[in-house]
Amino acid sequence: MIIKPKIRGFICTNAHPVGCAANVQQQIDYVKSQGELTDAPKNVLVIGCSTGYGLASRIVSAFGGGAKTLGVCFEKPPTERKTGTAGWYNTAGFHAKAEAAGLYAKTLNGDAFSDELKQQTIETLKADMGKVDLVIYSLASPRRTDPKTGETFKSTLKPVGEAYTTKTYDTDKDKVHDISLEPASQEEIDHTIKVMGGEDWELWLEALDQADLLADGCKTTAYTYVGKELTWPIYGQATIGKAKEDLDRAAAEIVKTKASKNVQAYVSSLKALVTQASSAIPVMPLYISLIYKVMKEEGTHQGCIEQIYDLFTDKLIQAAPEVDEMGRLYMNDKETNDATQAKIKALWDQVTQDNFHELSDYAGYHHEFLKLFGFDVSGVDYDADVEPLADW
Ligand code: NAD
Repeated sequence: MIIKPKIRGFICTNAHPVGCAANVQQQIDYVKSQGELTDAPKNVLVIGCSTGYGLASRIVSAFGGGAKTLGVCFEKPPTERKTGTAGWYNTAGFHAKAEAAGLYAKTLNGDAFSDELKQQTIETLKADMGKVDLVIYSLASPRRTDPKTGETFKSTLKPVGEAYTTKTYDTDKDKVHDISLEPASQEEIDHTIKVMGGEDWELWLEALDQADLLADGCKTTAYTYVGKELTWPIYGQATIGKAKEDLDRAAAEIVKTKASKNVQAYVSSLKALVTQASSAIPVMPLYISLIYKVMKEEGTHQGCIEQIYDLFTDKLIQAAPEVDEMGRLYMNDKETNDATQAKIKALWDQVTQDNFHELSDYAGYHHEFLKLFGFDVSGVDYDADVEPLADW
């Protein structure tokens, strides 16, 4: 099969197996070039392990720290006629490399919100790995079925309080235009918290604890984005931001209820970058295209792997990591500091349909977007006939 990108709106509906494997390899090469992590966790569970920040966390754990990793993801397998999702191929690529390096890796594909998948995880840990010393929670999902009630909740991306009009970039139509978003109802806010808040993170830790699978001093982190004025109305102070605030509550609750195991739970605040999750958020493609421009000029640009490598070395594996005033591991200062934000704001105010490509790094954004699906990866022959079937 010859595979070319099929882009529909903010998503690419197919993926390239060879490109995805090459992407994973590039991330492994980066981690190896940085040298081994000292005092790294050795038994790591990554919930949301197949793309974006979760995949990077798994690669840093395995190839930086030599950890055994158990991953959980929700991906579509390929058929003879249709490619699998990028996360499927990333996982196949990761497994091939881990096996070649003699690193234990297993991945469970299914709904992480369900009791069944938690049970499967526990059985796999008991059989293969034993207690975990790090649990990464990196899910990004538009919906969640509550395992207790069976009710399905959907998340909403809307402002809270009042309507908000701002600029956005439509990646499909190559158009900068105004967008007006009506405020969310209380029900929409509550449902978004149900999906993207801390409840499921707590359920995971509780299930692991009940099964006696948390090592003494086990660390756990869930990822958040804390932006600034430009993104607050649609992110930080919007429905998704309300859900992310709930992670702070959950972290405190996990520390309290798992005190006998000395569990350290952190919310880690990471920089904005192109992933499948962020490209679906209105405003973010425009904002990210502008920050890429500014941060590349400042020499501070990072992708998932560089950001997560720094999170591990600077904070997560430190005995007593420095936290911000909210108790979070704050990693996006290079994006949110006042000087950088002022430059981004100046570009934001000027940007129009006519000057968008000149003022922004949309070329960089688009390249990264294609790379998420295994396209536009250097060294890959996209005219070659490739086998779509892959497994792990
Ligand atoms: P992503 O879309 O690349 O990854 C999401 C992961 O969740 C995938 O592995 C997917 O398979 C898995 N997943 C989704 N639903 C699932 C389900 N029901 N069961 C099992 N697995 C499921 O997203 P990302 O951008 O890497 O986001 C990960 C976390 O990082 C999110 O909490 C996000 O808010 C946060 N974050 C993202 C950014 C950003 O700019 N992308 C910035 C800061 C924080």
